[in-house]
Amino acid sequence: MSVQQISLSGRKIEVSNKEMTFLERIYLWTILKGLWTTLKHLFRRKVTIKYPEETRTMSPVYRGQHMLMRDDEGRERCTACGLCALSCPAEAITMKAAERKPEEKHLYREEKYAEIYEINMLRCIFCGLCEEACPKEAIYLTKSKKIVQANYEREDFIYGKDKLVMPLEMAIKNTQSNKVN
Ligand code: SF4
Ligand code: SF4
Repeated sequence: MSVQQISLSGRKIEVSNKEMTFLERIYLWTILKGLWTTLKHLFRRKVTIKYPEETRTMSPVYRGQHMLMRDDEGRERCTACGLCALSCPAEAITMKAAERKPEEKHLYREEKYAEIYEINMLRCIFCGLCEEACPKEAIYLTKSKKIVQANYEREDFIYGKDKLVMPLEMAIKNTQSNKVN
């Protein structure tokens, strides 16, 4: 005799209540089957890597930690317009705008810049909408090639400009390679 159960997904599961044989009752066959599965995996190609010593090659379109870009002269591109924050479905971005002083022209490309720019990485879903919304090509998720690291404290997931702005050396390197090409 068999009992039929209908799951929520609509797929039927046949449950048999026929008496178990002696071999089935001592579970030896089932244990051996389980061990065989483990043994088979010993000789297969390993899918795990020894992170952080080894890292995977990331796809060119991998969306990782955001990067606030600099222009060819090393100036921050962000003009604190707030469009990225407005387009963010997770409300993960906050910023405070400030006016550029005449002596800061070498630091910021536009007259207005983000004095504070923060992303809450616990909220972020890495959708990339901030990148798409930015009119200044100032924020990218594909450039840093960094993974947002695990941490113990919530506050450590609020990334400020110290972590988000492109390192100056990287901007200089990019400019040099652009000139060569
Ligand atoms: S990637 Fe998406 S969720 Fe994350 S900050 Fe940008 S818009 Fe918000
Ligand atoms: S990153 Fe782009 S969209 Fe966001 S505030 Fe800066 S300029 Fe505006």
